[in-house]
This record gives sequence, structure tokens and C-alpha cells, in this order.
Amino acid sequence: AQTEKDLLYKIHEVANTYFQEILWDDQEGRSIGLSYFKERELRDDIIKKFQLGYSPEKKNAFTAYALEKGYNKEILEKSGLSIFPENTPAGVDRFRERVIFPIHSFSGRVLGFGARILKNNVKTAKYLNSPETEIYHKSNVLYGLNQSKQAISRKNACLLVEGYMDVISLHMSGIENVVASSGTSLTTEQIKLIKRLTENVTILFDGDNAGIKASFRSIDMLLTEGMNIRVLLFPDGDDPDSFARKHPQEYVEKYIENEAMDFIDFKAEILLRDIGNDPIKKAEAIRDIVKSVSFVQNALKREVYLKEVSNKFGLSEQSLFNELDVQKQITQ
Ligand code: ATP
Ligand code: MN
Ligand code: MN
Ligand code: MN
Repeated sequence: AQTEKDLLYKIHEVANTYFQEILWDDQEGRSIGLSYFKERELRDDIIKKFQLGYSPEKKNAFTAYALEKGYNKEILEKSGLSIFPENTPAGVDRFRERVIFPIHSFSGRVLGFGARILKNNVKTAKYLNSPETEIYHKSNVLYGLNQSKQAISRKNACLLVEGYMDVISLHMSGIENVVASSGTSLTTEQIKLIKRLTENVTILFDGDNAGIKASFRSIDMLLTEGMNIRVLLFPDGDDPDSFARKHPQEYVEKYIENEAMDFIDFKAEILLRDIGNDPIKKAEAIRDIVKSVSFVQNALKREVYLKEVSNKFGLSEQSLFNELDVQKQITQ
């Protein structure tokens, strides 16, 4: 028997095909959606590989199409693709006048969509995503994992970025071992998906304050799951997408290879950036780093990291061990 879940998978497949057909074959889709992707310098093969699409301006374009195909209002509403306000029986599409990024499961089924407005505008959220549904749990999904899983295994390394376009641009540059947490803070479930393929993660977040904050949270999460991490911050104003479009593949690969730091050096650099010689602030920064070390599960690795902190700041290992014990009690 066909379950509700089956039906939700099916309707996402139908929607995914629909948004792509609009992008490639429809007048509005081509002149607005496809032009948008061309402005962002995406090649046709990449647009197809990620199954990018476009949702028309018309209020119920997809809803009318799906109703016509025999899907009922209830399932359309449950999919998150349509809304049926009381005075609008024809329904309203969730995604209108946006370019569409389908979000796939590990094995390649479409679970939901991300959708971007065409012109940055302070009043409208830049990205709109599918709501949580019976098949889409955003904390269990990593964008790009389906397209990147083979390269992650082959290279035994995974690049972690913030956004859809970061994943896509890196693929276009030939760097295919990359996934995005897509704006949510990284979860244990997401890390476990990566861990099936590799234990080595390089965090490539935006060089802005939001990116730094997110990278700090992600570091502690990844350490807790026993991952080996390196971190790279792009120059302020750049993200992996803009950086990858400015430089050739070889340069980007070398840059990541050479500039990524271990988490201790990374946190030290950020935390000590603007504190001058203030000893109290320096102590706070060191405590913050030791707190991250306290998340490292393996005792031997923990000791190696602590030695590194000791050398870096010229502090005795004993006092750092004491601090580590305090932090472990707090974080456990
Ligand atoms: P673009 O390059 O298209 O402007 P971006 O990926 O660089 O977008 P960021 O502002 O750096 O955008 O945000 C990173 C990611 O966070 C996005 O790709 C998206 O997944 C998510 N995100 C950003 N803004 C929103 C929003 N308003 N609602 C939901 N998710 C968002
Ligand atoms: Mn950002
Ligand atoms: Mn960004
Ligand atoms: Mn960007």
C-alpha cells in the first residue's frame, strides 16, 4: 500500500521536475531564473547536476499543476509546497518568484527545497526553505551530501560550508567533497552522516561575525563526535562561492591546504585578535580554548592538544590540566 510518506516523496519528485522544466523551457523561467544562475556564472552542466529550478511569480502555479495531476489539498499542504488559506480555495504556492535548490537525502531522494529571492532586499528573507515535514527533518540533512559522497570517501576528507551556492561553486571548480549545513547550526545527526564517510572535516565558513560564531559552535560539536578538524576563515567579505569564482581550482585547493589551521590556532587567532596585552582577556581566551579541548573524547588526543596550548601560551601543563578538569565538569 502507498503510505503518506511515499506520497510525499512522490510529490517532491513531481515538484522537482516541474521547477526544472520551468527553468529550462518556460519563458519566465528562462528570462528570470536561468538568467539569475548565468549572472552567478553557473554552467549548464552544474545547474543540471544540482537540479536547480525556478518557481514562477503566479500565486498558485505549482499548486494548480499538482491538483490537475490528482494530488489533493491535504497532501499538498502536508508537503509544505502549498498553503490553502480559508478565502483562497485555489491555494497559494510556498515558493514564488524564486530560484530553487532541491535538498536530497544521502541516497538522492528529494526531501525539500531551498529557494532564493532574485534581488537582495531587506524586507524579504533571502532564502526560504521547506518546513519540517514527515520526510524533511532539517537537522538530519546535509545539503550536497548526495552529490559529494563519493568524493568525500575518495579523499577521506569533507569540506563543510554554510550555503547552497558554496557547495555548487566548489563543485564547479572541481572540488567535490563538500557539504553545507544550510544556515542551521550543525547537529550531531549531521556529523554522524559525515562520519560514515570520513573523520576529517575542514570548516570553511564565511569570514563575517555570523560565520565565526557558527564555526566556534561547530568546532565543539565536531570534537564531541571525535572528528579531526581544521578551520579556514575566508577574508572578510568572501565566502567559498565568491572565492572559488575568483580563483582557479588549483589555487583554491592550495589555499585550503595551506591556510586551514587546527582548531587551537584558529581560536587563538580569533580570540586574541583585538585584546592587546590585557592579561585578563588573555586568560579568558585560553579558558575558551581549553573548553574546546575538553570536548575531545580521546584522552591521548586531549593531552596532545593541551601540550600544544601549553607551548603556544607558555603556561604549565599542570595548570591547564586543572582548568581542563574544571571545564569537563561544567560541560559534562
Ligand atoms: P548567496 O550567496 O546566495 O547570497 P549565501 O549562501 O552566501 O547566499 P549566507 O547569508 O552566507 O548566504 O547564508 C548561508 C546559508 O544560510 C544560506 O545558503 C542558506 O542556506 C541559509 N540562510 C541564509 N539566510 C537565510 C534565511 N533568511 N532563512 C533561512 N536560511 C537562510
Ligand atoms: Mn554569511
Ligand atoms: Mn555566504
Ligand atoms: Mn554567498
